[in-house]
Amino acid sequence: MQKEKINLLGFTHERLVEFFDSIDQPRFRASQLLKWIHQRGVIDFMLMTDFSLELRNNLSVIAEVKPPSVEECHVSPEGTKKYLIKLESGSMIEMVKIPEKKRMTLCISSQAGCALQCTFCATGAQGFEKNLSDAEIIGQLWLANFYDSSSPLISNVVFMGMGEPLLNVENVLSSISLMLHQNAYGLSKRRITLSTSGIVPEINKLAERTDVSLAISLHAANNILRDEIVPINKKYPLNDLLDACKQYLNNQSKRKTITIEYILIDGINDSIEHAKDLVKILKGLPCKINLIPFNPFEGCDYMRSKEDTIKDFKNFLVKKGFITTLRITRGDAIDGACGQLVGNLKKSVKGKNNKNSINLINTL
Ligand code: SAH
Ligand code: SF4
Repeated sequence: MQKEKINLLGFTHERLVEFFDSIDQPRFRASQLLKWIHQRGVIDFMLMTDFSLELRNNLSVIAEVKPPSVEECHVSPEGTKKYLIKLESGSMIEMVKIPEKKRMTLCISSQAGCALQCTFCATGAQGFEKNLSDAEIIGQLWLANFYDSSSPLISNVVFMGMGEPLLNVENVLSSISLMLHQNAYGLSKRRITLSTSGIVPEINKLAERTDVSLAISLHAANNILRDEIVPINKKYPLNDLLDACKQYLNNQSKRKTITIEYILIDGINDSIEHAKDLVKILKGLPCKINLIPFNPFEGCDYMRSKEDTIKDFKNFLVKKGFITTLRITRGDAIDGACGQLVGNLKKSVKGKNNKNSINLINTL
């Protein structure tokens, strides 16, 4: 029986060194291979001209570099590109490429689906399918840069697509290591943001392993409400979560702030009383607040907060001295919620009608 080929796409520098060691090759091959794959976008070993023909042949027999496949790409009038990606398991995920004035941001997924069931999130409503492999995570960045080489290279990555990155830590950290590595994507740590709903023990461990930017999906500032809309709060309540955030900052020599994400849902978490709670619990935590108007989706009764409420909520926080931004949804809400888009998408894929899912993307 033919042995399965090893997919080297998600291998970090360290693992590639081990790999080349195992086939009696010098360690500098690891850097060479990283450059071919992640800087030049070359995945066919036969084109890697600084490898001997013998090595190229050998690699072709035992290994491969295989990104996931793009099923569909849709470009919005504002230039945001949404890619529907099919994994080998058949699961669908989505990534979103968002052009801004001075940067090109990629919103990526870490899991297909999510087990955490936040009540405002379509991904959560769909349930959990699988953890993405390291190759499937970094594969999204590879595809964003090389599948469609017409647009500028990705400058920023946010783990705000489908899934909870801190429930797939090892693969997420491997992909981060490649994002940072000078022979791979060479992004600075400030340009990578990991967003979590608050898996406290993993945040506590994270600081020893990485120092990328951290965003917390807070969405409620008291335990009663947060237990309801972000159910993982029952396991890791606000106090523990905020302590973990402080600890994360303390362990970093230079990192100054954490981003607090707060979706504004009409009549649920958007009153001035809620804003007061927020001010109270965030006191003493160096942070900036990112307000996100809720994006409605089918099957969820929540509605987006009214314009005036959003304004008042924001002004209150600003007056209290918090740097507060409002994530602007560009008409079609593409930026608003990658996770949500993916959730909607998956729902229609689940209906076993791929055409529908593509239509759905086109209408979002
Ligand atoms: N699981 C992680 C990362 C993925 S979700 C987390 O929860 O942080 C990332 C973000 O998707 C959430 O913080 C939220 O900002 C956004 N999101 C999910 N559903 C949304 C919705 N219906 N409207 C607006 N934003 C949404
Ligand atoms: Fe999962 Fe994040 Fe959605 Fe909550 S918001 S269900 S943690 S993907």
